[in-house]
Amino acid sequence: MQLSDDHRIILFLLLVALLFGVFWWWNRRAGKWLADNDRAGEPADPVERASGESLPRAATRLRYSEVAFQEMVANALDDIPKEFDREWKNVAVLVSTDWPSLADRRKMNIPDDHLLLGMYSGISRTEGVRSESAPHLIVIYQPAIERLCGGDQTRIERQIRKTVLHELAHHLGMSHERMRKVGL
Ligand SMILES: [Zn+2]
Repeated sequence: MQLSDDHRIILFLLLVALLFGVFWWWNRRAGKWLADNDRAGEPADPVERASGESLPRAATRLRYSEVAFQEMVANALDDIPKEFDREWKNVAVLVSTDWPSLADRRKMNIPDDHLLLGMYSGISRTEGVRSESAPHLIVIYQPAIERLCGGDQTRIERQIRKTVLHELAHHLGMSHERMRKVGL
């Protein structure tokens, strides 16, 4: 069969459109799958990150004492919406004055140029197991928060609050996709 040039061009364009369509569909599916399986591969699920910072290597001098920082955490927690009150019962918030370990970062697939501000570890409520012997922990990394916010106390408290809410959302079994939608 002989095809005219016009037909060839149309056929070619159709093929390109089809390839793009398949690629778009596959991308969407992959994205959805990743969102659905957000927690699947992560024994201690992480995160609250900020980009554009390189991973620190040397020991860091902290701007605030542990006590002063704890106080900021307390201030930040005062502002947590009342709806979450009930969820606090089995969750402890700890401050780490150290950076997260490299092993933890690897486990959570945190890219080298991302700051890890906080981490939730425990079993999320929606997974159905709730054991008093398996405590739910939220760890806030003071060096990372200070790196991101500088010395501005208001900014630090706002960021702590945001990070805690994000990790609390993990406790509630929320996916990152859903969190993004509600601004966490
Ligand atoms: Zn997260």
